[in-house]
Amino acid sequence: MRLALFGGTFDPVHYGHLRLAEEAREAVALDRVLFIPAAVSPFRTTERLSEPEHRLQMLRLATQDNFHFEVSEIEILRSGVSYTFDTVSALHQQNPDAELYLVLGTDTLQGFMAWREPHAIAQQCRLLVGVRPGYDLQTALERLPESVRQSVQAVPMTPLGISASAIRQRVREGRSIRYLTPPNVIEYIQQHRLYLEL
Ligand code: ATP
Repeated sequence: MRLALFGGTFDPVHYGHLRLAEEAREAVALDRVLFIPAAVSPFRTTERLSEPEHRLQMLRLATQDNFHFEVSEIEILRSGVSYTFDTVSALHQQNPDAELYLVLGTDTLQGFMAWREPHAIAQQCRLLVGVRPGYDLQTALERLPESVRQSVQAVPMTPLGISASAIRQRVREGRSIRYLTPPNVIEYIQQHRLYLEL
């Protein structure tokens, strides 16, 4: 089984995430993509995030119609700062026969060597990297040691310059977020009055 981990803050999930996951799935015939919202990102410990339950629920709504997509609560339940290394280790134990992949955007790859145990992660997982508009894959690759670079597989993806922060800002300003994220996610944001304050 080919199992991919796709971590992020997902505050909120949007079409950039969904296309990246779908195109990664298609590129290497993944059986399952697990969307894993972080409890607290190691690089964003001072930032205020929406409640885990909101981020999980929006992910469930966004992925419910894709048979290959699943949402994992593993980092939320572990609580505290979420390290991908711990998540990879846990999923490896739970799925000893699975081939593991990690899905990420170029911006995230740029900072990969600052993660906990990057070499061990790259040994256990192939890194499926979707090029994100405004970020150069070559620059990100040059910052990696050869052993990690070997584990990287670029995923050609439809360029979508969508970010969660731009969505939050638009909501705060009372502007439209239609076509940036699925309609059921927009409805959820409105119902729960998310992102209206800083
Ligand atoms: P924020 O704007 O709050 O920083 P974000 O939109 O970057 O959020 P994250 O949850 O931080 O979303 O991202 C999770 C993963 O998805 C990261 O690996 C990131 O690189 C990737 N990603 C996010 N948006 C896109 C996009 N538009 N195209 C390709 N990859 C993306």
